[in-house]
Amino acid sequence: MSDGAEKSKRSNYHGRLEYTFARNMRDYEGYSIGKLLSLINDPKIISMAGGMPSPEMFLQEQLRQATRRRFDSHIHRIMQYSSIRGEGELIEAVIAFLQRDDIHVRPENVMITSSGQQGLDLVGRLLLDPGDALVVERPTFAGALAAFQMQRPDYLGIELAADGLDVVQLRQVLSDCQASGSPPKFIYVVPDFQNPTGICMSLAKREALLALSRLYHIPIIEDSPYRTLRYCGSQLPSLFSLDQQQGGGSVVGVYTFSKLFCPGMRVGFTIGPPEVISKMTNIKEGSTLNTPPYNQEMCADFLTTVDLDAYFQRCHVYYQEKLRVLLEALETHFPPERGVTWTRPDGGLFLWLSVPETVNTQSLFHAALGFKVAFVPGDAFYGEHPEYRHMRLNFSCPSSDQLKEGVRRLSDCLVRTESVVDRLQRSRWSINQYT
Ligand code: PMP
Repeated sequence: MSDGAEKSKRSNYHGRLEYTFARNMRDYEGYSIGKLLSLINDPKIISMAGGMPSPEMFLQEQLRQATRRRFDSHIHRIMQYSSIRGEGELIEAVIAFLQRDDIHVRPENVMITSSGQQGLDLVGRLLLDPGDALVVERPTFAGALAAFQMQRPDYLGIELAADGLDVVQLRQVLSDCQASGSPPKFIYVVPDFQNPTGICMSLAKREALLALSRLYHIPIIEDSPYRTLRYCGSQLPSLFSLDQQQGGGSVVGVYTFSKLFCPGMRVGFTIGPPEVISKMTNIKEGSTLNTPPYNQEMCADFLTTVDLDAYFQRCHVYYQEKLRVLLEALETHFPPERGVTWTRPDGGLFLWLSVPETVNTQSLFHAALGFKVAFVPGDAFYGEHPEYRHMRLNFSCPSSDQLKEGVRRLSDCLVRTESVVDRLQRSRWSINQYT
């Protein structure tokens, strides 16, 4: 382009400057789920789309008291800049919290983040160059894809079974990558009550995954927002603790207070080898600097003054009942002959529902808004080769009555959509008879 043409290109928009976005950002259209959620603005819509914990579980009085107490004793510290890696008090409280889960770390293994989402962003920025490959589950957490997408990586999707990712397929993929000289940079998994499926990885698969990570020297990123939300069955060891029992160093753990305490604080933490934590701190220095001290103090107060066992127990009873109501409603409205299937999680906030192949859940989403019900279409949760016959349903936020009514509306919407698809198919069939 000539100098003149370049100049006019830069200033021809009503005399205003035209911005030339970074190549990486030109065709980036943002987080797909965020956009869908913005369409759900009618209060009459029953939304099973979001991923929010129930406000009924928020410890509001505890937060009020902690705020008052800490403002009275050291408001100056709360109003000041603070350490990038995190406040000492919160790091110590996190270390003690992790010990309950048989994870034993030292301060140099911990970094406080401004949410789990920031932890994922820092992982991507630390480990990925454009075009690098990483392994993800199929389906996987869409927010992780949004974070990693900033580095323009290639995704190697591994199918997810009822007991976690297909480790036979993973072994094959890792072996092929080794043979071609381009190994993935890491394996990203959500082993406990995964978002979007609610699936929990079995102990055998956890051990197999760790063995593959060691064999092929590929680190694992274990994202654990829902680990404390188990409603039945017994807890399985985290990948981080299993790895520690074998010497450690293969797993980086990404955590958040969003589902432990509340998402409004935007506080999380990442644990891993000191060299990983220290590099991530360098990246955080260039973005948010420190996580707000007030938010860190509230999280430290939560971990140190709340009876965590009693609190989690209360959450379990509450969410387990919501899950039971949703499962019962699904059984009532979708008898086996309708060809609809769904996961039956033991914890977390979501389940994954699959509809007959003829139905596309992207189109169904828009039809469902007309029926005043919403979900997240499943294609948002694939790094590559999206599938269009699934949806994510959240059960933590809607009331029990809303869950029952939401499933009834979803069922009506599906009946209507299937009859339209059926009519279309039959008319195509009759056209084919004469052509
Ligand atoms: N990982 C997973 C699997 C999640 O579901 C979420 C929240 N929905 C996060 C990380 C990030 O949580 P936050 O940013 O709220 O801390």
